[in-house]
Amino acid sequence: MINIRDIIYRLFIGSWLQRFFPNITRNNYWTRFQLQDFTSAEWENLCDGCGLCCLYKFESQGGNKIEFTNVACRLLDCRTCQCNHYEARKKIVNDCVKIDLQLLNERAYWLPSTCAYRLLFENKPLFDWHHLISGDRNTVHDKGVSVRGWVIPETEVQEHEIQNHIIEVEQQ
Ligand code: SF4
Ligand code: SF4
Repeated sequence: MINIRDIIYRLFIGSWLQRFFPNITRNNYWTRFQLQDFTSAEWENLCDGCGLCCLYKFESQGGNKIEFTNVACRLLDCRTCQCNHYEARKKIVNDCVKIDLQLLNERAYWLPSTCAYRLLFENKPLFDWHHLISGDRNTVHDKGVSVRGWVIPETEVQEHEIQNHIIEVEQQ
């Protein structure tokens, strides 16, 4: 429920922070503030680095089912699970999808159910392996949540064969 304090915060302090201190991250911000009130640094820091959103996927007609594959975007480093050209990614990969509030509002289901953005959007807590909880960016890999070790780059697969690489990823 939004109260008068939230409205004042959003109208004044939130936009002021975003404008003058976009690089600031506040203590336990993911539990204290709404996604729309995050600074740019807080938003970026929320990503758990799993790499699941960088896999090829198929969406059923009507959009209620997403099938993931084990084929990764050509810019994904399959070992670190990081994008090799994050800042310029949209210029290199036209259909790279930016994770923002609009995407969450329109199709949060497109993201894996473990995705930190989707979890907060759905008012769910982060998992204990998330680096903001564990304090360690490796726990997402140690727990086997990330794509490390089981995906192949799209450069190794013929485009018409990608549909043969559908895998099971927990979806809700
Ligand atoms: S699925 Fe979500 S948490 Fe994982 S890399 Fe993509 S945006 Fe980050
Ligand atoms: S361009 Fe980068 S961020 Fe976008 S899908 Fe590819 S690896 Fe992921």
